[in-house]
Amino acid sequence: MSQVSEIRTLQEIDDEAGNLRASLEEAERRLKGSEELSAARERFAAADGELADARKEQRRIEGEVDVLTSKIAPEEKRLYDGSVRNPKELTNIQHEVEILKGHRSKLEDQDLEVMARLEAAESEHADAQKGLVRAEARWEAERAALAQETRRLAGAIASADAKRESQKARVVPRHLAVYEDVRRRRGGIAVARVAGGNCGGCRVGIPEAVRKRAFDPDQLAQCPNCERILYVG
Ligand SMILES: [Zn+2]
Repeated sequence: MSQVSEIRTLQEIDDEAGNLRASLEEAERRLKGSEELSAARERFAAADGELADARKEQRRIEGEVDVLTSKIAPEEKRLYDGSVRNPKELTNIQHEVEILKGHRSKLEDQDLEVMARLEAAESEHADAQKGLVRAEARWEAERAALAQETRRLAGAIASADAKRESQKARVVPRHLAVYEDVRRRRGGIAVARVAGGNCGGCRVGIPEAVRKRAFDPDQLAQCPNCERILYVG
C-alpha cells in the first residue's frame, strides 16, 4: 500500500480511538450519578421534613388544647359546685372561662387546618417514597449497564491502541512525524481529500504542482494552507 493509504488507515484508527475515548468519558461522567435519583432524594427529604413539621405542629396545638381544657374544668367546677358565693367573683370566673374557651376554640380551628396539612404531607411523603424506590431501581439498572459499557469501551480502546501501534510501523518515521504534528495542530484531522481542486480540510485551492504530487503514491503532498496530508480519489 502507498504511504498515503497507510496514513489514511492510521487516521481512521485514530478517529475510532478518539470516538471511543469520548464515549468512555461520557459513560464515566454518567456513572457519577443520576439527576433523576438526586431529584427523587431531594423530594423525599423535603416531604419527610414537611411531615415531621406538620406532626410537631399538631402535637403543639393539641398540647395547648389539653392545657386549656385542664384549666377550664376546675374553673367550671367552681362555678357550679357552690364553693364560690360572691356574685362578682362568679362573674369573673364566668368571664375567665369564656376567654379560655374562646382560646381553645381558635386552637381547635388551627387543629383542623393542621390535620388537613398533615393529610397532604402524608400523601406527598408516600408518593415521594414510591418515586425514590423507583428511581433507585432504575439507577441501579442504569449503573450496571454503564459499568458494562465502560468495560467494553476500555477493551475497544486497548485494541484500537494496539492496532495503532502496528499501523504506525507501516508509516516511515519522517511521514509519521508530519502526520503526528499536523494532527496535533489541526484538531485531530491530519489528512484531507482533494475535491474540485480544493483541500477538503480547509477548502483552499490546491496549486497544480501540489495536486500532481498528491497522485504520486510515494510522495507526501501537503496543503499549502492547512498542511494536511492530501489524497485524491
Ligand atoms: Zn488545507
